[in-house]
Amino acid sequence: QVKERGRGNFGFYRPQMNANLLSRMKLEHAMRQALGLGHMAVHYQPQVDMATGRIVGAEALARWTDPEFGVVSPGSFIPLAEESGFIVSLGGWVMEQAIKEAAHWMSCGTPLVVSVNVSALEFRQPGFVERITALLTRYGLPAQQLELELTESVLLHDAQEMEQVLASLTRQGLRLSIDDFGTGYSSLAYLKKLAIHRLKIDRTFICGLPDDEGDSAIVKAVLGMGRALGFSVVAEGVETQEQRLALHTMGCEYYQGFLCAPALSAAEFRSRVLGPSAVEQKHQSKRTPCR
Ligand code: C2E
Ligand code: MG
Ligand code: MG
Ligand code: MG
Repeated sequence: QVKERGRGNFGFYRPQMNANLLSRMKLEHAMRQALGLGHMAVHYQPQVDMATGRIVGAEALARWTDPEFGVVSPGSFIPLAEESGFIVSLGGWVMEQAIKEAAHWMSCGTPLVVSVNVSALEFRQPGFVERITALLTRYGLPAQQLELELTESVLLHDAQEMEQVLASLTRQGLRLSIDDFGTGYSSLAYLKKLAIHRLKIDRTFICGLPDDEGDSAIVKAVLGMGRALGFSVVAEGVETQEQRLALHTMGCEYYQGFLCAPALSAAEFRSRVLGPSAVEQKHQSKRTPCR
């Protein structure tokens, strides 16, 4: 009987697997073309100072709209890009777009920090630091205005080598943040060893606020650790006023989330932070706070 079922499964799964593999290969092929064809874009999600409601930075997020597949979410194409190695090209492109865009904001009198996600494979590329330095010089963006978002898994790889790369980045003034904090295989040891500037508390701990006691306890603990070790904390995925208020009361300094805005196209983000007539409007005071 078991054998029967096994055979039945075999007959059923094989074409299914081939179909999955085929669509995966098609998707990967389309993804590799997408950069050159202009089907990829970088969008910017505001990061807000809780106390003032001002937008103080933005996270650069890759977007892909394919003529055949439609909008493909980063949740599907980023893992595919990581597995296939394409993330090195894609990440390099996102980095250049983000640095160029932040240099533009600065030239309009609005010096914001731009945050760029960096995957483990990119980070391990020889010349990673030199490439970033060259881009900063080329576009005239001060290193202090670029933040790299690393996940805990990046930090656990090749500890020794990684420490050197991170040190050479922070020596130049770049900021480092730990993304999705609390969801990885945390070793808290790196928090005191590395020059980390910010922790980004993962959205999964924010969505239960203010009612969920477990989430509140975790957020409080992370904020306490941040204060003790000297880094600031960003709450990811803030969607409601109640969540924002709870976080503000607990002493969280920054948030990112749909409550302020989703990731916006470069043009939308410009008109939001620089004002509709971006060129003339050079004063921060004219911006509307995001509360
Ligand atoms: P992440 O770095 O943790 O980015 C935050 C994700 O949360 C984004 O999803 C953002 O759109 C979403 N988000 C922000 N605010 C809210 C909210 O209030 N509610 C909800 N439900 N979601 C919110 P997105 O853009 O789909 O990106 C998913 C992940 O893909 C990112 O997670 C990041 O890990 C990765 N990713 C995106 N672009 C890049 C890239 O250029 N390079 C690399 N290496 N990874 C990227
Ligand atoms: Mg991120
Ligand atoms: Mg995150
Ligand atoms: Mg997250």
